[in-house]
Amino acid sequence: MTIPDDPVYRSLAEIVGQDYASNRPEELFIYSLDSGTEGPRKVDYVVMPATVEQVQKVVRLANQHRVPITPMGANLTLNGLGLPADGGMVMDVKRMDRILELNRPRRYVVIEAGVTQGHLGSYLEKNCPDLEHSRPEAPPMATVVGNMVIRGHGYLSLRYGNNAHHINGMEVVLPTGEVCNIGAGCVSPWPFCKGPLPDLTGLFCGWNGTTGIITKLSLKLFPKRRILDVIGYTVKDVALLPELLYQVTHTDVVDNLFVVGIASADGREPRQYVNASITGDLDEELAYKRALLQRLAAQFAGADGRQARFLYPVPDVIKSRFVEKPPYVSPALAADFQKGGGYRYCGAILPVDKIPEAWRVGTQIASRLGLMFLPGIQILGYCHSAMFGFVYPFNRAEEETVERVRQAMKETNEAVLEMGGIPWKAEVSAQRKIVERMDPASYELISRIRRVLDPNGIMNPGNWSR
Ligand SMILES: Cc1cc2nc3c(=O)[nH]c(=O)nc-3n(C[C@H](O)[C@H](O)[C@H](O)COP(=O)(O)OP(=O)(O)OC[C@H]3O[C@@H](n4cnc5c(N)ncnc54)[C@H](O)[C@@H]3O)c2cc1C
Repeated sequence: MTIPDDPVYRSLAEIVGQDYASNRPEELFIYSLDSGTEGPRKVDYVVMPATVEQVQKVVRLANQHRVPITPMGANLTLNGLGLPADGGMVMDVKRMDRILELNRPRRYVVIEAGVTQGHLGSYLEKNCPDLEHSRPEAPPMATVVGNMVIRGHGYLSLRYGNNAHHINGMEVVLPTGEVCNIGAGCVSPWPFCKGPLPDLTGLFCGWNGTTGIITKLSLKLFPKRRILDVIGYTVKDVALLPELLYQVTHTDVVDNLFVVGIASADGREPRQYVNASITGDLDEELAYKRALLQRLAAQFAGADGRQARFLYPVPDVIKSRFVEKPPYVSPALAADFQKGGGYRYCGAILPVDKIPEAWRVGTQIASRLGLMFLPGIQILGYCHSAMFGFVYPFNRAEEETVERVRQAMKETNEAVLEMGGIPWKAEVSAQRKIVERMDPASYELISRIRRVLDPNGIMNPGNWSR
């Protein structure tokens, strides 16, 4: 039921229309949870603006009443990042869902903040089938902008870096309500690149919506090859993985490298499956790439000379998942291993040579807590770093298991920091741990930037704080 005599609610309803603002507990409840294990959060209002002008008005209203704003796309981080850490309003951006410009010769697209991965993917397939964007494995309703904000990654991130690298520019409503154009579009009529300018896009990526609300995004598109195949390697000894990954990327023919760990039947000796995707426009091109990778398999020996390599014939059922775009190999599949399926993962950004240690640590944590451990590793850049997913599936119906998963996440975050890695899309408690370890001058700089941009501290407070 609406609480009508609330002045903030009344103003929100005036700005966006009654159907798109709410303070009804039953609707707020939906916005107070995500599908991970973060508990319900307090939400006071939900607002769904359709235009940049409405976003500006809502931001000004929030400043006037000192009500926190948390921008929300599809709320799919699994770590509660689309939920308010400290009450206030959720700004659901899904109504801003237009694709504004597709520029084929310049290989970019301009979209609004609510455009989803599925929407952009199918739009490109229909209107420009020789170009694609770097889609994450996240469900198709995840927003493209939400993924940029958390510096996510997709199946083109081996070649072109994490997805935030693909931004040309953006339109942002600053925490004080002004609209700001970031990238070449602030000088040129076109948002075709970042330009030889100070790179302000970094002020909005990785900040978890604490520095402004992105309303439009200009995104790079990349050549889409006609055919795709997967070559699989398996190693018995995880210590050999870094060298194998190095050599595979050194061939310069691989588009995506994803490693999954599968426990053996007795649960003690997991195997590592390295899946290298290759693409091409001609059969000959693909044949050449296959031959290179097969030769590597025949020659590969670890740094200490141990031969622990062989190609594994990727079964069709697995291959059909890898050749999908995005590949459907998500640890989400693991959520169904147990009834009531849910899962959480600590996605740790690690140096590639830390993979064996991470594997050992994850296995130990899971076995001590009696959990299943399903590592999934996405290689970023040419082995410049890896996203090591420590995946812990759980049965949502068992609160006691859920609690053990929370504990596993806590211990994993600590272990990752101890290893010199950094948890990615860290939940609020993990952000605190990162901040505790941060060089104090860096933390002060972050805080100072936030104070300058957001003098009333209304943008998603609680994130990146001590
Ligand atoms: C099964 C599964 C698989 C996944 N696989 C991947 C993967 O392969 N790669 C990957 O990168 N991620 C993956 N994820 C994580 C996540 O779902 C994605 O990164 C997703 O793209 C996030 O988008 P979202 O719309 O859900 O963002 P949200 O969760 O809604 O938001 C993310 C952050 O961005 C902020 N934000 C949202 N919109 C705006 C805006 N307009 N302006 C400013 N701030 C904003 C929010 O406040 C929040 O801090 C996966 C998740 C699941 C469930």
